[in-house]
Amino acid sequence: MSAQGRIGIGYDIHRLVEGRRLVLAGVEIPFEKGLLGHSDSDVLTHAVCDALLGAAAAGDIGTHFPDSDSRFAGAASLELLTRVVELINERGFKVANIDAVVLAERPRLAPYILSMRERLAAVLQIEIEFVSVKAKTNEGLGAVGRGEAMAAHAVALIVANS
Ligand code: MG
Repeated sequence: MSAQGRIGIGYDIHRLVEGRRLVLAGVEIPFEKGLLGHSDSDVLTHAVCDALLGAAAAGDIGTHFPDSDSRFAGAASLELLTRVVELINERGFKVANIDAVVLAERPRLAPYILSMRERLAAVLQIEIEFVSVKAKTNEGLGAVGRGEAMAAHAVALIVANS
C-alpha cells in the first residue's frame, strides 16, 4: 500500500421537478422543486461518492448501487456514502479531505452550507475543516441556469489508513 495520497473526481446532475424533496448532503432544503431520481437524488452526495470511489479506482456509484436494484429505491444517499466510506476503509484507505461545488440557480444555498458540511463530515469520519462545500449559480446558462437541473462536482483525497 502506497503511503501517498490518491485523488478522485466526481460529477453528477439531476433534473429538478415538482413534487420531490430537495436534499443536498442529507439536508432537506425548502424549495418548490426537488431532484428527480431513483434514490433521494442527493446530487452533492452522489458526486462525493464518485470522487471517493474514483480515488480508490473502485468503480462508481452506478456499479455499487444500481438503479435496477430495488434496495436502493428512495435510499438516503448519506447511507450510500456510509457504505462507500466502508469500502474505502476495507481497501486500506481513509478520507483525508473533500472539496465540492453545487451548481444551482435557485434557491440560495449559503444558509445551508454549514449543515451540509457537518452531515458530510460525520459520515466521512473527518473534522469539518476537511470538508468544503461551495455553491454557485450557472449565471442563467444552460439547463442548470434555467432551473431545470442541479449539478455537483467533487474531488476527494484518500490516504493509507495505517
Ligand atoms: Mg445521482
